[in-house]
Amino acid sequence: MSDQNPVFIPGPTNIPERLRHAMNVPTFDHRAPDFVDILQPLLEDLKKVFKTKTGHVVTFPSSGTGGWESAITNTLSPGDKVLVARFGMFSHRWIDMCQRHGLDVDIIDCEWGSGAPAALYGERLAADTDHRIKAVLVTHNETATGVRSDIAAIRATMDACNHPAMLYVDCVSSLASMDFRMDEWGVDLAVSGSQKGFMLATGMAIVGVSAKALAACETATCPRCFFDFREMIAANAKGGYPYTPPVQLIHGLRESLDMLFEEGLDTVFARHYRMAEGVRRAVSEWGMTLCAKSPELYSDTVSAIYVPEGFNSDALTDHAFDAYGVSFGVGLGEMAGKAFRIGHLGSLTDIMALSGLAAIEMAMKDLGYPITLGSGVAAAQEYYRTTKPAHALKKAA
Ligand SMILES: *Cc1c(COP(=O)(O)O)cnc(C)c1O
Repeated sequence: MSDQNPVFIPGPTNIPERLRHAMNVPTFDHRAPDFVDILQPLLEDLKKVFKTKTGHVVTFPSSGTGGWESAITNTLSPGDKVLVARFGMFSHRWIDMCQRHGLDVDIIDCEWGSGAPAALYGERLAADTDHRIKAVLVTHNETATGVRSDIAAIRATMDACNHPAMLYVDCVSSLASMDFRMDEWGVDLAVSGSQKGFMLATGMAIVGVSAKALAACETATCPRCFFDFREMIAANAKGGYPYTPPVQLIHGLRESLDMLFEEGLDTVFARHYRMAEGVRRAVSEWGMTLCAKSPELYSDTVSAIYVPEGFNSDALTDHAFDAYGVSFGVGLGEMAGKAFRIGHLGSLTDIMALSGLAAIEMAMKDLGYPITLGSGVAAAQEYYRTTKPAHALKKAA
């Protein structure tokens, strides 16, 4: 009955029963006149999640990776210079994609576990007096290391040197779980997907597009077809898609937005912080360390945890799955074998987080880790017991 256990991987996340039902719809005609009644309010409501009033939101049948590609191909030309920091597997993959599109990629290599270095971005932007850098790319939440970067700080360094580059942000594992402010942070392209904070099946890229990014489509020459923003926006305005839309996911997304708004975005963020903080208390009690180097970098959606010297994190995640039917995230890239990840985002609560901590403790104990059963769980319990749950904060407000 391991399928009754929640997954503790940072995506795809647990799909709540309500969303599974919402996606269970019969085939219907996406060219029928009533499709527009679903699509347009949906796109408007997505803007509330991105916190944009001035931008558009587009959705493609794809995963988050397709969202990255749409950002690149719609707004850039081969040879264009982009500035990007690499500090984990996801920032690395986005860089790889930029290179494969023939962009001139200026990479700031950082130690994994650190965040996007605003000061270094600032230095390179200030030195770029003839404004060759067309785009600045940042991974908001590096899912491989459990690091959240400060996007407002990157925007501030761009503004400080009056640099006209556009700002592209990967918010795949942060949107709808941690605060994200597209307009306030001056984000031109915000890339997300259906299977993390939105708690849905994989299969949809969800991208916020600023007016400036849309204008850049006019002159950018990267080939694009399936991911063409202008064709999508024009079709959406008439109530449709340029091709067959993923109608089941669109129904799921409608329900997902309803769930998020019923809970309240601020309560959703507070719930994630609380779950994450309990997990962090447990990690500290185990005497283990997070990959994220300092508290201001701690992600509220995923924690990457180094295992002690002499242990292999892949053996731990395998054993947790084989013995207890629970999935945790493996170490990616440089972290392979050295760290495992606890995903704590989407349809989870603090009480569910306790079960994940209990399970991984059993797995660690089985493999001879120097921990006491219940120690991390107790630290999390103590934190949860003595602080107010997110829904209580909402009631008090
Ligand atoms: C999950 C994720 C992606 C996209 O991955 P897909 O598998 O293509 O959906 C991109 N960036 C980050 C930070 C992610 O966590």
